[in-house]
Amino acid sequence: MKSFPLYLSLENRPVLVIGGGPAALAKARLVLGAGADVSLVAPEIAVETRNALAGEARLIERGPVIADIEAAALVFIAEADPAEAERWAEAARIAGVLVNAVDRPELCDFTTPSIVDRGKVTVAISTDGAAPVLARRLRADIEALLPSRIGALAAFAGRYRQAVKAAFDAPARRAFWEAFFSGPIAAAVLAGDDARAHETMLEAVNRPQTDRKTGVVHIVGAGPGDPDLLTVKALRLLQSADVILHDRLVSDEILLLARRDAERFYVGKAKANHAVPQREIEARMIALAREGKTVVRLKGGDPFIFGRGGEELDALREAGIPAHVTPGVTAATGCAASAGLALTHREHSLAVTFVTGHAKGDEDPALDWAALAALQNTLVVYMGVGKAGAIAERLIAHGRDGATPAAVIENGTRADQKVVKGTLGDLGRLIDAGHVSGPAILVIGEVAALADGETLADLAQRERRVA
Ligand code: SAH
Repeated sequence: MKSFPLYLSLENRPVLVIGGGPAALAKARLVLGAGADVSLVAPEIAVETRNALAGEARLIERGPVIADIEAAALVFIAEADPAEAERWAEAARIAGVLVNAVDRPELCDFTTPSIVDRGKVTVAISTDGAAPVLARRLRADIEALLPSRIGALAAFAGRYRQAVKAAFDAPARRAFWEAFFSGPIAAAVLAGDDARAHETMLEAVNRPQTDRKTGVVHIVGAGPGDPDLLTVKALRLLQSADVILHDRLVSDEILLLARRDAERFYVGKAKANHAVPQREIEARMIALAREGKTVVRLKGGDPFIFGRGGEELDALREAGIPAHVTPGVTAATGCAASAGLALTHREHSLAVTFVTGHAKGDEDPALDWAALAALQNTLVVYMGVGKAGAIAERLIAHGRDGATPAAVIENGTRADQKVVKGTLGDLGRLIDAGHVSGPAILVIGEVAALADGETLADLAQRERRVA
């Protein structure tokens, strides 16, 4: 470390910017954000700078003078010619004022870091001028890591600092804050539910120190398989979980991203082989949360699309457990993107319908097939592989044209994705010929013709080549 990082309070303090162009404007903006009293001095001030800073900074159109520098707490030199920059840097040094000269590290007393700004929470990144592009990339990484409401969370905690100090002695206070930041109150603040957060916080602060312990359950969508399709929020939750309950459809690559010492339970269900009954999953989540744990219930795709997320949320609500839902990329949109077919398309389809091929128990879903067949739009069938032939027959019997394009997308977004396409009339054969056995969706409608996939003819040719 060559430069020492510190946070400087600039509120109402005089800052001088020498220069009138875009670099000067950028520096002025930077310190205006911290409430500085900015004077910008240059023989010529660009119109853009003038417009952008009107009413915000003092604009002085003349060459700088020593008195300008002596009056400042900090000086930025932007866009002076090299000799001028040296002269003003020297003047600042004599006046004992800290100086920064744009693109002249040898003249700088200080540099400005890359900043992640979330209100009360800020992160400053510096590479000591060695690699500004690396600093910018790190900044992007950190931006992605920090929840957007982290500043609100810090402000919330700040508001209760005194109250917590009064309510707890020093070791208990630390434990309180530790539990706070990984618990339900912080989760509520991050989710934007301030009313609930305040209510619970007041309760927590007023409760006797002996009994306080409820965890939280996050029902989280993991997307269709590709770990890059996780939301930033899902990733953060996976890394803060004490316990993860996951389904069969959640890929191993995604589980690798979870906090290493989180407990994991596989509660998935392969068809007909129910690993853990639904009621038991719900009971387990509730029990874990009551132990004070942060529980992540990780589900394939989106929890609210054929994911039983609704049932689980109901059970948690009924048990009085704080619960939050994080959406995920659902199989239909994930597969559509990776197979290159638009689910709606101004030329071919003005609506899209998601249906399940599999209902509660083993009965047929009570779908209005006539209505589905009549809709001249895109139909996406989840859990329909086993019944694809029967589904196609019904749609055709109810009037949908057998020549309507159809596609089957298996293991969508994963390395082993397979796409076969043909017509509705061929749907059963597409599945047999494509040896589809993994999770797959059926896409029926004109847009299916746009998929990047193999046709029955392609498959036959490949078989012949192999044979
Ligand atoms: N909640 C999930 C759906 C769960 S139902 C979601 O929003 O995606 C399970 C069905 O989803 C599977 O039978 C299959 O139809 C579909 N599915 C899930 N992942 C898939 C994938 N990677 N590729 C194709 N279909 C998938």
